[in-house]
Amino acid sequence: MRLSSAFQPMLKEVPAEAQIASHRLMLRAGLIRQTSSGIYAWLPAGLRVLRNIERIVREEQNAIGAQEVLMPTLQSADLWRRSGRYDAYGPEMLRIKDRHEREMLYGPTNEEMITDLFGQAIKSYRELPQVLYHIQWKFRDELRPRFGVMRGREFLMKDAYSFDVTYEGAVASYRRMMLAYLRTFQRLGVRAVPMVADTGPIGGNLSHEFLVLAPTGESGVFYDAALEEQDWLAQDVDIADTASLEAFFNRVTGSYAATDEMHDEKAWSEVPEDRRREGRGIEVGHIFYFGTKYTEAMGISVSGSDSAPLFPQMGSYGIGVSRLVGAIIEASHDEAGLIWPDEVAPYRAAILNLKVGDAASDAICERLYAAAPDAFLYDDRSDRAGVKFNDADLLGHPWQMIVGPRGAKEGMVELKRRATGERLELSVEDALSRVL
Ligand code: ATP
Ligand code: MG
Ligand code: MG
Ligand code: MG
Repeated sequence: MRLSSAFQPMLKEVPAEAQIASHRLMLRAGLIRQTSSGIYAWLPAGLRVLRNIERIVREEQNAIGAQEVLMPTLQSADLWRRSGRYDAYGPEMLRIKDRHEREMLYGPTNEEMITDLFGQAIKSYRELPQVLYHIQWKFRDELRPRFGVMRGREFLMKDAYSFDVTYEGAVASYRRMMLAYLRTFQRLGVRAVPMVADTGPIGGNLSHEFLVLAPTGESGVFYDAALEEQDWLAQDVDIADTASLEAFFNRVTGSYAATDEMHDEKAWSEVPEDRRREGRGIEVGHIFYFGTKYTEAMGISVSGSDSAPLFPQMGSYGIGVSRLVGAIIEASHDEAGLIWPDEVAPYRAAILNLKVGDAASDAICERLYAAAPDAFLYDDRSDRAGVKFNDADLLGHPWQMIVGPRGAKEGMVELKRRATGERLELSVEDALSRVL
């Protein structure tokens, strides 16, 4: 993309309503604009980040055998009456009437709808397990929408749902999902620590929240530093083997980690002092086993091996896709602006032409740009060098390819790594092979 023609509005002034760095930077860098309270439009650069996150989430869901569907945002109230949640859900649910006075709602989550779809299609225990997911906008009329996309009212979520014949099967589904989550967050370039969460009336230990550590997080967190040191992409887990999944689960949950809601002082005191980490975190994912709660309430059964009806065991698994954009920024920025992890960056690199009109500079920049026009944001504006440096730092591209008349004459490009500030003088070819 050429910056001179890009829809890339940047703000000089920090908007007063934005209290935290990620919200300020998302507005300043032109990633989002608020259209009404807690509701945002995604501008091109922001949308590219959102799509990158979606892509990684999708790849990791597919890798554990989850199948993608797409359910609508609008749901009928009757569906929710079948589980008893229509009245129980409260004011976070946006309720709507259509022209025939039929009661509808904008989905805050999809347990009812997926259970109904499942029940219409699956009739026998032999067709289980099934794991279905979608990536769709949700609406929750949050009492206090704040921190930009972090707590929006309309937000993008990946939600998956598993259906198993037995409790043991459901546990295996849960553990596979835990692995997928840890891999997903690591690939996104953030540390998300899995912490025990409240299971309510369901009981057991099968609820975990994944928290990105950041001082602006809404939850207090306590965890063993061992959890930060793990390389989740290097885990040797056979997802088809229950024993292998169990060993993995025990490795993860063997180290203490809990939010303030679930904190246990006694267990905490047993963590060696030098490994105790305390701080704040942002909930970016949540996995939850809830057994036959919805299948029973909605009367959705399959025929079991003895052909008697059997209520499938379910779990649900959410990732806050749009919240993650904010969380990644909270974990990765500096005074000058955004610092995108490679995998989610809207562009791999900025090409900074320090002297538009200088024949040698223009020629080098065009050569760089032609190598990957979709991966580069080419700053071909006729602004001063200082403006270009500042804007590139603000936008946070992992690399900057800086081209000025002196270097250009020698066919050289200056490559800057945004995260470290490290600089290298390279030929066009070497610069490209570094960046792409
Ligand atoms: P929170 O505790 O922050 O209100 P939640 O526990 O109500 O979140 P879940 O029902 O577990 O949320 O939904 C799954 C994921 O969706 C959450 O882990 C979070 O990442 C994301 N999410 C929930 N509410 C919002 C929101 N208002 N804006 C953006 N993302 C959200
Ligand atoms: Mg909530
Ligand atoms: Mg929560
Ligand atoms: Mg939650």
